[in-house]
Parts: sequence; C-alpha cells; structure tokens
Amino acid sequence: MSFNLNKLVRPNIQKMVAYSSARSEFKGKADVFLDANENPFDTGLNRYPDPLQRQLKKEISAIKNVPTEQIFLGNGSDEAIDLLIRIFCEPQRDHIITVPPTYGMYKVSAAISDIEVKTVLLTEDFQLRPKAILAEANQHSKILFLCSPNNPTGNDVNRADIEFLLEKFKGVVVVDEAYIDFSELPSCTTLLEKYPNLVVLQTFSKAWGLAGIRLGMAFASKAIIQLFNKVKPPYNVNQLTQTAALEALQNKQQRAEWNTTILEQRNWLIEQLEQIAVVEKVYPSAANFLLFKIENPNDWYNYLVQQGVIIRNRSTVVLCDGCLRVTVGTPSENQRFVNLLQSRLVNV
Ligand SMILES: *Cc1c(COP(=O)(O)O)cnc(C)c1O
Repeated sequence: MSFNLNKLVRPNIQKMVAYSSARSEFKGKADVFLDANENPFDTGLNRYPDPLQRQLKKEISAIKNVPTEQIFLGNGSDEAIDLLIRIFCEPQRDHIITVPPTYGMYKVSAAISDIEVKTVLLTEDFQLRPKAILAEANQHSKILFLCSPNNPTGNDVNRADIEFLLEKFKGVVVVDEAYIDFSELPSCTTLLEKYPNLVVLQTFSKAWGLAGIRLGMAFASKAIIQLFNKVKPPYNVNQLTQTAALEALQNKQQRAEWNTTILEQRNWLIEQLEQIAVVEKVYPSAANFLLFKIENPNDWYNYLVQQGVIIRNRSTVVLCDGCLRVTVGTPSENQRFVNLLQSRLVNV
C-alpha cells in the first residue's frame, strides 16, 4: 500500500521545533542538576519526571510485545486522541470519520479543534460498513476512529473489516482498544508491522484498575510516535502516575484475578437480565459492560438513580433506542442492581 505520512501531517506541525526540556539536552552521566530551577531538597517529587517515561515504556514493551520506540504514553488515552487530531487535522479544512454509536471523545476533541466530523453509522448488529466509509472519504479525511470492543455496544468489530480499511483508507486508522483485555480477540498491535497508518489505543483506566492515575497508551509506527513526542506537553505523564503504573505492572496476578471475576460476573449478569420480562435484548459483550434493551428505559434509569445505583442511559443514542448500559461491578454491586430490577417488577 502507498502511505505518505508527511502528506497527512499539518504543515505547521511539520515546521515547528519541539520544546527541548532542561534534562533532555545533555548526554552522559551527571549527579548535580542545577538546570531546571527545581527545589534541590529531596521530597521524593522535587524533580521533573522523565519526559519520555523510559522505564515505564520498557515494562509496557515487554508485556505488549511492541518496541519502546513505538509507544506513546499520555494523560489518559483522551490525550492521545486530542494530539492525533492536532497533529493531522487542519481546522476548517480537514475532517475525521467516526462510526456511531461509539465513544464520545472523538467528536468532542474534534469540536475543540474546530474539526468537522463525518459519520458513517454501524450496521444494526454494530459492525462496520467498510464500503460506505470509503465512499465518504476524500483527501481531507485524515483520521478514521474505530473502537473494538466498541463502547457503548460492547461487541468486537470484525477484524477482516478493520484490515480492509487499513488497506484502503488513505489517512490514519485509529483502533481504540480500551476494552481489549476483556476480549478473546488479540490486540491489533500484531498488525503494526504491516500497516504504517495504524494507531492502536489502550489504557490503564479499565482492566488495570487505575482510572485515577490517567494513563493511556498509543502504539504506532516510529514516525507517528515521533510526531506525538513533538507535540505533547514535555512532562505530560507525572511522576506519581509513572510510579503507580510501574507498581501495578509488578502485580499482574491481581489484574488477572480481577479479569476472571469480571468475566464470570458478566456472564451472571447476562443470565439474570435475560430472565427479566421487560428486558427485550442483551447485546453480546466482549467488554466489562453490557448494553441491554428494556421497556421504558428512562423510568428504569430514574428508578435506579433514586435507589442510589447509577448506570448509563444510552436510550437516545443512534441505533441504541431503548438501551441502557451497565458496567460489571463487584458481585455484591451486581446482585444489588439485579435485585432492584426484580423487586420493582414484583411491586408494580
Ligand atoms: C474508557 C474509554 C477510554 C479511556 O480513556 P482514558 O482517557 O484512557 O481514561 C478510551 N476509549 C474508550 C472507547 C473508552 O470507553
């Protein structure tokens, strides 16, 4: 395939000179640092963090089987989404393509940068329409955002359709894999060598249990990662976050146990929801949440809120008429949620 990265990058980004941080200018070893106007007294946090998070990337590289030079780390994957739009999309000229119903941040980040969003709906069973996507694209279609497993629908997106689009779409194809740890499919990172236009997003916010530290990952070609590094704020991943992530990576067993419980609980929730008369459909899920269709979704949503249980009302989202989305919680939280649905039915 022919892919010319330079032609896709905004001219101002190509021309600009990246900020050079105090600590990255010198080469060699040193033990006195009087270069960055930091407080010299050791608080454990008085020094700026490593702008390239080298130690953390080494650990992530080993687990993900992606070379460190092909990893970008950001303040959540939301930062990676924002930077991608700012690297490639010229305001009032370029656009992105999204495939609703999908994650809301692509549209929000585009709006902040004054970038138009073209949309091509998924099918009724939440799969891609690759030919319709290509028909919508032109030379100003810089980024195509795909999400697998998709939010809010929960399903895996067909891999053959993703590959077809990687072959044919002329811009960058982002595959957002925030929920990949709950899926049986392998990550699209295995396709990085084959497709120079691929960016895979993952996060510490879901399976790793670290939404609070804000740490997202982007995997892509070296050239695309260099662009991320050029435009990112120099110290975008703070020291507390880097330390907490390194600790979590030492305890992979914990994560595996959580995953097992969450997948068991997902199956239990499916069984329970399917037995509730007003539930019309529970959609297949490869994620840590379920989308289900229910009679009078707003009433159910409000009733649950009154009882102190918050789920996500997706009933006005395109192709999700009548749908609510529930995250798989702890066993007791899931039990409480199901009990509330059952007891209201008995009482009405
Ligand atoms: C939760 C979620 C994310 C995570 O974003 P962070 O900024 O890393 O917390 C990304 N993409 C999708 C589709 C999500 O649902």
